[in-house]
Amino acid sequence: MKINTNYQNLKDNYLFAEIARRVNEYKANNPSADVISLGIGDVTLPLPAACVEAMEKASAEMGTTEGFRGYGPDHGYEFLSSAIQNYYKRFNVSLELKEIFVSDGAKSDVSNILDIFSADNTVLIPDPVYPVYLDTNIMDGRKIVFINANEENDFLPLPDKSIKADIIYICSPNNPTGAVYDREQLKAWVDYALDNKAVILYDAAYEAFISDPDLPHSIYEIDGAKKCAIELCSLSKIAGFTGTRCGYTIVPFDLKSGDISLNAMWLRRKGTKFNGVPYIIQRGAEAVFSDEGFKQCMQNIDYYMQNAKLIADALDELSIKYIGGKNSPYIWLKCPGGRKSWEFFDYLLNNANIVGTPGAGFGENGEGFFRLTSFGSRENIIKAVDRIKKLDF
Ligand code: PLP
Repeated sequence: MKINTNYQNLKDNYLFAEIARRVNEYKANNPSADVISLGIGDVTLPLPAACVEAMEKASAEMGTTEGFRGYGPDHGYEFLSSAIQNYYKRFNVSLELKEIFVSDGAKSDVSNILDIFSADNTVLIPDPVYPVYLDTNIMDGRKIVFINANEENDFLPLPDKSIKADIIYICSPNNPTGAVYDREQLKAWVDYALDNKAVILYDAAYEAFISDPDLPHSIYEIDGAKKCAIELCSLSKIAGFTGTRCGYTIVPFDLKSGDISLNAMWLRRKGTKFNGVPYIIQRGAEAVFSDEGFKQCMQNIDYYMQNAKLIADALDELSIKYIGGKNSPYIWLKCPGGRKSWEFFDYLLNNANIVGTPGAGFGENGEGFFRLTSFGSRENIIKAVDRIKKLDF
């Protein structure tokens, strides 16, 4: 037996383990401290009522002879694909039903989609980055090149024609930076991908947080994207499905390598390796796109975005530089006083009992930066903001 030795090339999953270690140590030494986490990447509000009702109804159906369902279709149920197809009309994007594949979330498909690409492709990954893009390609042994996201380019790197890449990752709104590409910038990436016969893996997990009407929610809002991009999306953040698990992946019919359809390859891969998302969950997902369900989802998103505004206003008051927080639940701030990311982590924990995520954990360019999230409770955000305002940076 030979193991996949690429796993030996993975760096330890150090970031969140180290955060937990430092927080636990602090709590052990300061048992009465009221430690607030603004580092959390998971949602906290309960599921929208419309989704719960739909899943209850679907559960009851499954207990009847007429309503029982076994294995579902490879693409997912058409009621959900149709709801997603309609949702995309809001962005003036027209999709065929069979271009939409229901998934159990964006994380799995960000990784699974690599099955249809050879291991000898070169992958272009921004730094800092959502670590899954990096680790999944290390596991497959692909050559990885990085593109710098930094203060100079507002953490929105544009293509560098001197870099040759075959698979390009773009996440907008971005985790961890909260930066969002505009149409012109995305067009530059689409043109680059078309020129290089490359594919863009576009992670739109946070698209629902975009409120600026000029910013694109989908890469297919850009001309030419259907020939070069796969879009991965998730109901985790729009509808609180982090524990319920449902998302979708769009592989356009126009996306080809020579005359081979990537849509056909992906369908084959799905049919072979995946038996679908439970019927009950897909009914809950359908409800996300109903009038009532969508209204409830947007109320939850408004709640998080008001949290983000409270944090952003406090940073403005303190003249701390940051990006994000406007069309994204993430706020990416420059550590005041020229501190390094972990130094600032310790400073905030010791002086304000607040936990965030050190930017250095997302890549070299994250050093000196820090991620705060707006997914906490309003009560905690207000308390945390008051404490931050009292600090002498
Ligand atoms: N993509 C990005 C950029 C994320 O930040 C996350 C989760 O935090 C995911 C994908 C995972 O989404 P899902 O819960 O659908 O697997």
